[in-house]
Amino acid sequence: MHCHTVFSDGTRTPLQLVQEARERGLDGAAITDHDTAAGWTEAANAARELGMPLIRGTEMSAHWPLGGRKISVHVLAWLYDPDGRRLAELFARTRQRRLERARIMVANLARDYPISWESVCDQAKESDATTVGRPHMADALVAAGVYRTRADAFDGVLSKRGPYYVPVETPTATEAIRAIKDAGGVAALAHVGSFARNRVILSDDQIRACVDCGLDALEVRHRENSPEQRTRLTGLARRWGLLVTGGSDWHGRGGKPNMLGENSTDAATVKEIARRGAIPVV
Ligand code: AMP
Ligand code: FE
Ligand code: FE
Ligand code: ZN
Repeated sequence: MHCHTVFSDGTRTPLQLVQEARERGLDGAAITDHDTAAGWTEAANAARELGMPLIRGTEMSAHWPLGGRKISVHVLAWLYDPDGRRLAELFARTRQRRLERARIMVANLARDYPISWESVCDQAKESDATTVGRPHMADALVAAGVYRTRADAFDGVLSKRGPYYVPVETPTATEAIRAIKDAGGVAALAHVGSFARNRVILSDDQIRACVDCGLDALEVRHRENSPEQRTRLTGLARRWGLLVTGGSDWHGRGGKPNMLGENSTDAATVKEIARRGAIPVV
């Protein structure tokens, strides 16, 4: 229910996602690139050809305002109507802001390291259709020989706590969820218990506010959610009648160590997500 391709920061094409899902014996897969639906057509064509059920989705970048700081919130949006104007506008705005932010980060990095805007763009495999992020800067640094892997670059100059980091301006989590629901989609909070991404994570009350905006599900089974957080999130889901999903957050070989299918979602839950969605499972 949570996979990335070359249309954002994954290393594999949508066709390869569908092929690898089939090779692994999965019953289906979801494409959820960051802030875009650009990979949907290729993924759907591959899914039809290979007879692999496909859920079309997107992982939306959002935040929760917290005093002067922000909690980063990722919202999985499945099976929404891609013509929903509000949602499409939010995606377009976030992608534009990602570009502006990347240009600033790369300009600062280029003073101290052998990378350039061109070398970062070279890493965006679908050119303008790729949602650009720090992973593409990491790949450029690896290509220049500064680091050995993406992970090393994230531990180094691309760290959120480092001097080169610039945040991306995003909609609030409640704005994102409202727009997803407005487009008939199914909304889930991704890896909401992860302390790898935020020092402070969403509280019960903040998650409740998301439920009040129409949130459908919590991604409980994700490698960054600790056992304690899984217990907490499962309890909240039960209390508020939310669906519980698992996500691999697969980015392909060289993208992230996460394996395709390392977390999965049961058939009854997928069926309910399909029932709620505005567009069919391919
Ligand atoms: P950004 O949204 O541009 O700030 O970049 C964050 C993205 O980088 C996340 O969506 C992850 O997919 C990816 N990421 C974060 N940490 C790592 C890491 N250590 N190795 C590889 N990818 C990472
Ligand atoms: Fe990513
Ligand atoms: Fe995410
Ligand atoms: Zn993800």
